[in-house]
Amino acid sequence: MYVIKKMMWNNLLDIIEEYHHIYIYGYAAPGKWLAAQLLHTGKIRNFIDSDSKVSGQSYDGVVVKSYDETFKELESKEKHESSILINTVFAIQDVWEKAEKLNITRQIALGIYLEGHNPHPIANQSEEFIRYSLKCVNLAHVYYFSNNDLFLRSVDLMVTERCSMKCKDCSNLMQYYEKPTNIKFEILKRDIDQLLSNIDHLFEIRLIGGEPFVHNDIYKIMEYTTNLNKISFVSLYTNATIPLKETSLTCHKINLDRLIFIITNYGPEFSRNLDHNIKLLEKLKIPYKADPPTGWTDSGQIVHIDRTEAEVTELFKNCCGKNLLTISDNKLYRCPFAANADRLSGIPSDPDNYVELTEGQSKLEEYTGHISYIPACRYCMGRSWDSPEITPAIQTQKSIDYEKFSRLK
Ligand code: SF4
Ligand code: SF4
Repeated sequence: MYVIKKMMWNNLLDIIEEYHHIYIYGYAAPGKWLAAQLLHTGKIRNFIDSDSKVSGQSYDGVVVKSYDETFKELESKEKHESSILINTVFAIQDVWEKAEKLNITRQIALGIYLEGHNPHPIANQSEEFIRYSLKCVNLAHVYYFSNNDLFLRSVDLMVTERCSMKCKDCSNLMQYYEKPTNIKFEILKRDIDQLLSNIDHLFEIRLIGGEPFVHNDIYKIMEYTTNLNKISFVSLYTNATIPLKETSLTCHKINLDRLIFIITNYGPEFSRNLDHNIKLLEKLKIPYKADPPTGWTDSGQIVHIDRTEAEVTELFKNCCGKNLLTISDNKLYRCPFAANADRLSGIPSDPDNYVELTEGQSKLEEYTGHISYIPACRYCMGRSWDSPEITPAIQTQKSIDYEKFSRLK
């Protein structure tokens, strides 16, 4: 087992000196940042990423290959061609052991070696965003190897069932709510307090919906969550249909240092306030990311598929949504699909779908780290990395009818 102690960025630079080739696991911001720092060595072979949709893409001339492709390429190579893999993935628990199976001499975790690094901005990513991403890798990796404390990387706090858009394939199932409502501040506060009383640290709480800015109390929710000591960051997931208010952001006691915005840019017809919002975020030095919708899959349907035990286990293992922990009504679910399908009575009621927030640390630990699947997976199309892409954000005029499988049991 890896022995955890704080290491300096210079230690990483010393270690890579010993190897001929470098592989970078993860094509998100930390992986790209790392590639930019190590490009001068001329040793980087390729990125490896679990998402097969990014295979073939490149950054700074370094190409992304899938795990399977890299596995095959390395199989025939002799171990004496010394190589090192630097793991940059936030959800390191999902890839560490998998990466150990590659014919690579040594694997190290980037997050352990970030003391004294410089969060230089990279193309399309501000210094603030890089700082946030590296902090996440740092905490996720340190807690993964320290083993003693209960650390959660990210939890979705669903603040509303309402959205200013109505995407027919919304993977959070907003398209099915006939009379959507906002969740009351007191309920949200109760749930987040309950969760935090059972864990040691939460890197990020994602305020999500629907569109969080349709909630009248959203600035109050931001104020409350950004001042909780066990949380490093509060992320707002927004479609930029609603203008941000400077006075609300600055007059409330919101801790702006802990805020980050993840904006989906649906184009001028919908994301009408994109420019206004970005200008304000830049003025207040709040990190943000604004990208068009990509990678949508057909995961917004409630269906009943008669899967065997082995099939449903495999579906869960390959699901990219299984760590999108979601709070809904005093319960923690593995994903927004399960949370909303249950809320909508779309699936049979089953206590194995969630853990009650009052159930305590050991139950939470078991549910978030050691289960093979949840019953809701039998009603889901799945979200594997290689699912075919669909056209994003096709709008529906009214809520969509769906079968209530809750009546099955
Ligand atoms: S913008 Fe579309 S995908 Fe996003 S929450 Fe609203 S309905 Fe869902
Ligand atoms: S229900 Fe299961 S398969 Fe569907 S998104 Fe959630 S974890 Fe993945």
